[in-house]
Amino acid sequence: MRVSIAKPFIGEEEKKAVLEVLDSRMLAQGEKVKKLEQEFAKLCGAKNAVAVSNGTAALHACLHAVGVKAGDEVITTPFSFVATANAILMMGAKPVFVDVDEKSFNIDASKIEEKVTPRTRAIIPVDLYGLPHDYDKLKKIADKHGLYIVEDACQAVNASLDGVKAGCLGDIAAFSLYATKNIVSGEGGMVTTDNPKFAEKVKRFRHHGQDEKDRYIYHELGYNYRMTDLQAAIALCQLAKVEDFTAQRIRNAKKLSAGLKGLKGVVLPVVSNNACHVFHQYTIKVGGKMKRDELAKKLDDNEIGTGIFYPKPLHLHPHLAKFGYKAGDFPVAEKLCSQVLSLPVHPLVSSDDIDRIIEVVRNA
Ligand SMILES: *Cc1c(COP(=O)(O)O)cnc(C)c1O
Repeated sequence: MRVSIAKPFIGEEEKKAVLEVLDSRMLAQGEKVKKLEQEFAKLCGAKNAVAVSNGTAALHACLHAVGVKAGDEVITTPFSFVATANAILMMGAKPVFVDVDEKSFNIDASKIEEKVTPRTRAIIPVDLYGLPHDYDKLKKIADKHGLYIVEDACQAVNASLDGVKAGCLGDIAAFSLYATKNIVSGEGGMVTTDNPKFAEKVKRFRHHGQDEKDRYIYHELGYNYRMTDLQAAIALCQLAKVEDFTAQRIRNAKKLSAGLKGLKGVVLPVVSNNACHVFHQYTIKVGGKMKRDELAKKLDDNEIGTGIFYPKPLHLHPHLAKFGYKAGDFPVAEKLCSQVLSLPVHPLVSSDDIDRIIEVVRNA
């Protein structure tokens, strides 16, 4: 049977929970969303969690909460999904890219300060593939220049650094519960923050600028970014299994690394001792685009799905290049785009599947 790069684990609990919500006839945001917010905050160790309709909406709401305005600059990585940069554009602000570190795939803290200007308002580090960003270094820079850290933790639910969970590695954080993420609700997003004012702002933002208690009073521009109880019911079931899911991903990653060790031309993911990497993706580097694409084809021929996250850095898409970016601006991100290959690591990948992946890669 084909091993796919992503497959959500849906059990009887999820099915039953959805039917219960349907039977209740309370389909929109309600008690399930409230319960999810409480449980999610608990998981992250955050004082507040607010559910929204998707991870992009979560990022948008985070930037609104910290007060990013039109004309501001927000520093982020060019080696991410486009939503990270789009959230900045949605505020009328300018994405200012900084290259990434070759080993961690995350924003290179040593290159941030040269990009800070009087207009810089925030930094969005991305916990890419499930590995937390370089928090200590970023925090120093943010404090020195009065910047907010908006953590894009969309791929990093349950990850941690020095025992601090993703979602708490900045002033405010965005998660995604999209169908391929580590826990899913179909479409869905969460915002976590210790700052009660930020949480209130996010709640208004998802509800057309209204406070939950007095409706039809519009304080500011907001959107319809609410989550439904149908989605929250699924997410609650997933949340109950998150420790199992995480352990299975880490176990699969360890097995892959043990089996692929010492292969010439293949660089395995590295995890420092103080980080818990939750392996949203298990991503290797393969020397050269041609070799990478050949290996992907070989795996595909053997019924093993792979993924390339991402084939092109954000600054080279016309959509973002128009801010004055060109090839050569971020050499590390550009090189990684030609080398990275993600292998199946999710909880439905069996031990036998892993053996087969290792065998195919080794033979190639
Ligand atoms: C998935 C993802 C998003 C967007 O989440 P959606 O729920 O798809 O809107 C943002 N940033 C990163 C890094 C992601 O992986």
